[in-house]
Amino acid sequence: MSKHLILLGPPGGGKGTQAKKLQEDYGLVQLSTGDMLRAAVASGSEIGKKAKAVMEAGQLVSDDIVIGIIDERIKQPDAKKGFILDGFPRTVAQAEALDKMLTARGLKIDAAIEIRVPDSMIVERITGRFTCGKCGAGYHDSFQRPKVDGTCDSCGGREFIRRADDNAATVQQRLDAYHAQTAPILPFYEKKGCLRLVDGTLPIDQVTGHLKNIVEGKAVS
Ligand code: AMP
Repeated sequence: MSKHLILLGPPGGGKGTQAKKLQEDYGLVQLSTGDMLRAAVASGSEIGKKAKAVMEAGQLVSDDIVIGIIDERIKQPDAKKGFILDGFPRTVAQAEALDKMLTARGLKIDAAIEIRVPDSMIVERITGRFTCGKCGAGYHDSFQRPKVDGTCDSCGGREFIRRADDNAATVQQRLDAYHAQTAPILPFYEKKGCLRLVDGTLPIDQVTGHLKNIVEGKAVS
């Protein structure tokens, strides 16, 4: 099913987790600007050098850089299957630039879905999370520990990674950036008639169920 979706919501709200599930279920491609920027930082590229300190401070990387990355990425052949944007757009300028890119390709956003989670739940969610260094499976110190401590359930990997910006000091910055710069794009998609809302405090599988209903046109929220 070729769909073009946007997952919106605060850091730690479950966008990445849910994007991975939709990717598997519908054969869509997850396009995470956070993942792309972390890869750029790890590779030491020019973009990575510019982005590193900004990301560690919990602020937003410049619109020009992120828009350029997405513009390149959606030209790749696999994006023709349809995609789920995770972490982009994050500013009104990015939303407008995305609109132009899609219009130029004869595409449109089918749904921009806000996964809503109150700030009070975010710090615990973010500071406890970690991923398998081999396959990327996500875990949490309190909510989702591996079945065998120190071993990934999915691939048996024994190396786990915590993001440099997943600490209590940076989380507040990231939440502030979300409310100041990203939340204002919600009305942009509301005006287009494609904004949907999902309660992100529900268990992961229930959130996935609601998202799938929206993607399959079974629910209007
Ligand atoms: P995320 O993995 O989506 O939480 O993103 C991690 C960090 O990457 C953010 O705190 C920003 O510093 C940066 N970042 C990711 N996506 C964007 C974007 N669309 N615009 C600006 N900065 C971004």
